Amino acid sequence: MHVASTIDAVVSAVERAADEIVEFAAALIRIPTINPPGDHYIECAQLLGRKLNDFGFDVQYFEAEGRPEHTAAHPRMNVIGRRRGHRPRPNVHLNGHLDVVPAGAGWTVDPFGGLVRDGKLYGRGACDMKAGIAAAVFAAEAIRRAGIELAGSIEISGTVDEESGGFAGVAWLAHHNHLSANHIDHVIIPEPLNVDRICIGHRGVYWFEVETHGRIGHGSMPFLGVNAIEHMGIVLDRIRRQLLPALMARTTAVPVVPDAARHATLNVNAISGGQAVEGIQTPCVADRCRAVFDRRFLLEEGFDATKQEIADLLRDLATEMPQLRYELHDLMVVHPVRTPDNSAVVRSLERSIRRILGREAAHVASPGTYDHKHFDRIAGIKDCVAYGPGVLDVAHQPNEWCGVDDLVNATKVIALSTLELTGTYSFSAP
Ligand SMILES: [Zn+2]
Repeated sequence: MHVASTIDAVVSAVERAADEIVEFAAALIRIPTINPPGDHYIECAQLLGRKLNDFGFDVQYFEAEGRPEHTAAHPRMNVIGRRRGHRPRPNVHLNGHLDVVPAGAGWTVDPFGGLVRDGKLYGRGACDMKAGIAAAVFAAEAIRRAGIELAGSIEISGTVDEESGGFAGVAWLAHHNHLSANHIDHVIIPEPLNVDRICIGHRGVYWFEVETHGRIGHGSMPFLGVNAIEHMGIVLDRIRRQLLPALMARTTAVPVVPDAARHATLNVNAISGGQAVEGIQTPCVADRCRAVFDRRFLLEEGFDATKQEIADLLRDLATEMPQLRYELHDLMVVHPVRTPDNSAVVRSLERSIRRILGREAAHVASPGTYDHKHFDRIAGIKDCVAYGPGVLDVAHQPNEWCGVDDLVNATKVIALSTLELTGTYSFSAP
């Protein structure tokens, strides 16, 4: 088949399947895979697995044996489908997370109803990212319905717990070599980054806890004790005066969106000190205070310097005020990732977006983090991006939705790039 007629055949196969794509995304939404705690994963993995099976994939299920969050009440089940073409490689892997965040308040439609109205599919997970999973499945199916045999292979996975770090999902599969650079060449994660944007990575995350220690005393004679809450106040004040302006002055060359997230940032996540506020109070000087911080660091900063900066700030304070005793604990570290500049998957998606949408793709990076990190760091697959239907801003919000047009267009884009990345057709010619 000629290149132009191949594109036409695949594009019209997607268009003919439009209702089916929306219906499959809605069926996924109707399974409330809320995380935490991780509900209905088996049901959702099996719905995806059955569809992949119907569409000619060999399907395998993987429970995250050995992970503490994999329990009888909340089993962590992942699914991978494989469809081989002429050869095993190149192998394109499309990955979507099955879990959604809790619905929260403020909905005017059923968050798990899968309602379609005025060209929008509504529900928790509509954009993040059950529409993306449907796009991946029907990108592969449109190629098959167009009568094209792939030169390489395609894999589609549905994985758990992305919203809580992905440790029983992509990380577990990568640790057990089910996702690996030894058999996968390119990865597209159809997260909702907008239909004309390619996401090439994310900032780093450093969660840490600072604990200040005081000395208990009678609240009527606070001068006879040492108040750990006041010392935490001094820590927070030093962070605000010294650290925050320094972070604000640093800008990454990575195109993080929104713009304000191009700087390094710090958020105080939690604070607790002294007696429980809801309990009966006795007059005591607080001898302990703990605070949890969420530091997002830039590729250019790196983790070691990020941690050192906090450690130095605390050490300097303690030198100035010998009574200020503290401990610093690491809670979580996620290193930043960035897709290489010469990435085949980026170049291919750029071409497909130009063909389908008639405009140039923008490159963005995520202010948060997603499963890209595990593909990069554990599976060793560098040629990985996020690209998928839906508007990032409505993810995790009440009345979350995905445009049906976006869903259909993203399916076309992923289908064309799958053809190209599997070596089936080259669309680089004008
Ligand atoms: Zn997501």
